[in-house]
Amino acid sequence: AEGERLQKVLARAGLGSRRSCEELIDQGRVEVNGQVVLSQGRRVDPDKDEIKVDGLTVATQSHLFFALNKPAGVVSSMEDPEGRQCLGDYVQNRETRLFHVGRLDTETEGLILLTNHGELAHRLTHPRYGVTKTYLAAIQGPIPRDLGKRLKDGVPLEDGYARADHFRVVENVGKNYLVEVSLHEGRKHIVRRMLAEVGFPVDKLVRTGFGPIVLGDQKSGWLRRMSNTEVGRLM
Ligand code: URA
Repeated sequence: AEGERLQKVLARAGLGSRRSCEELIDQGRVEVNGQVVLSQGRRVDPDKDEIKVDGLTVATQSHLFFALNKPAGVVSSMEDPEGRQCLGDYVQNRETRLFHVGRLDTETEGLILLTNHGELAHRLTHPRYGVTKTYLAAIQGPIPRDLGKRLKDGVPLEDGYARADHFRVVENVGKNYLVEVSLHEGRKHIVRRMLAEVGFPVDKLVRTGFGPIVLGDQKSGWLRRMSNTEVGRLM
């Protein structure tokens, strides 16, 4: 059959569990394209049909995108067999299977995207697409004037050169430096390895940008639904 079951689409849009969405339908509170639906078997196209509950339109995209500010100490997987804190712990009412877009080291914090669009999640992390990621790293100075140039020229690592696209000092108090590094590759521990290689082991690392999406002032541990505009930019 085509489309998805109406109660599933409603549940994914945040109207409650599937069971309680079935009750909304029984109560005659749900309309599809202007007609009240009373049967549970109704299938809809979440991207095309207009669905209303109590007369109000419900946003029912089939593809959901979330931005999480991952705290340090959380493993980048949806589930953890060893019971460690993981991304899945930050997602509630999961009516749809979510994938994480790439990974952050357990000790790295910051922006990680979650989506039920498995293919896009895969594409966004593929080296061929080279999505730019931006990080803030805390290091101990003093730092040489040419540090940015060295990172941009390329740093030899055991698995090949790594290059930054952009570097700047964001803050400097005494010996403490906060530097911003952007790069479009995603090898494991890449920022930590690059900075360590040039003599500046990273004390703290935060991802602040993933492609067009920015972390902004989103609090640690908070998950937010991305806006349609943001989703459009990612696609
Ligand atoms: N670079 C790192 O070193 N760690 C991350 O989590 C991401 C990029």
